Amino acid sequence: MVKSKDSLVSIIMPAYNEGALITGSVETVKKILKDNGINYEFVLVDDGSKDDTWHHLKELSDRDERVHSVRLSRNFGKEAALCAGLDEANGDAVVVIDSDLQHPPELIPEFVRIWRDEDVDVVEGVKADRGHEKGSYKLSANLFYNILLKVTHIDLRNASDFKLLDRKVVEAMKEMPEKITFFRGMSAWVGYERRQVPFEVRDRAEGKSKWTLKSLFNLAVTSLTSYSSAPLKLIIWLGTIMFMVSVVVGIQTLVKYFMGNSMEGFPTVILLILFSGSIIMICLGFIGLYLDRIYHEIKGRPRYIISKRLN
Ligand code: UDP
Ligand code: MG
Repeated sequence: MVKSKDSLVSIIMPAYNEGALITGSVETVKKILKDNGINYEFVLVDDGSKDDTWHHLKELSDRDERVHSVRLSRNFGKEAALCAGLDEANGDAVVVIDSDLQHPPELIPEFVRIWRDEDVDVVEGVKADRGHEKGSYKLSANLFYNILLKVTHIDLRNASDFKLLDRKVVEAMKEMPEKITFFRGMSAWVGYERRQVPFEVRDRAEGKSKWTLKSLFNLAVTSLTSYSSAPLKLIIWLGTIMFMVSVVVGIQTLVKYFMGNSMEGFPTVILLILFSGSIIMICLGFIGLYLDRIYHEIKGRPRYIISKRLN
């Protein structure tokens, strides 16, 4: 495929309860694209919103046939919504951007220019700073990404979902059969020529972040278990260490027993049972996480279900 001035660029926007700002966001992005002479289409994905988001998408699609809208049958989460967007997009390149415009749309022409003029397949926005996130959130995000880097060698520090992907990258990602997806991880895993563009995270204009502690925790577990088996190896290490300790303590106990000055056993036994019991349970939990993943993958259910489609 030859990249040219007329190459079609798909803008993918996932939206969950964004009725208050989705129309404004689309118009803002559209104006930027028009001013820069970019041949565009929009793929708007309503992730089962409970407010009037779909109503707004309908209006947007009515007004402009280049705005494609799909509605998922329920809230599948941002990762699934992005997959739906990638599947629906026709562009030679796709740009993924949050519908709350916390990702600056002014950078899209720059993304497109880099993609068109240079030999680059993925242009990724990286957070120059994490905006007005809470200190504790920043800290835990950093900690998590550092652990992920250590165990998976996938560097997601400051990574965002604001990206331009070439058609061949999109096709490569579509080849990935997993049902539980993590967009950032997938797009990092496929490789290709990449270029990073730093941006400042904006404050949200309306509404509030859709992430809850629970959904963030789930995302963390998904990304860790999808890209690493390190926790399973950790179990082997733990077991080995405990075995070595138990050999030493065992010999000591036997020696003491035969020398006739066996120590008071009761507290030691209780402590050992509690300690080894809890380690075993934690390890079972780790194994359970992977089992859970296998269980979900093997059911082979679709990543999302589309209930309505416009244009
Ligand atoms: N989003 C979605 N489904 C969800 C949660 C969020 O499609 O279940 C969309 C949301 O509409 C927004 C983007 O994902 O366009 C980022 O969400 P949000 O702004 O809540 O996250 P944050 O900016 O705090 O990371
Ligand atoms: Mg946001």
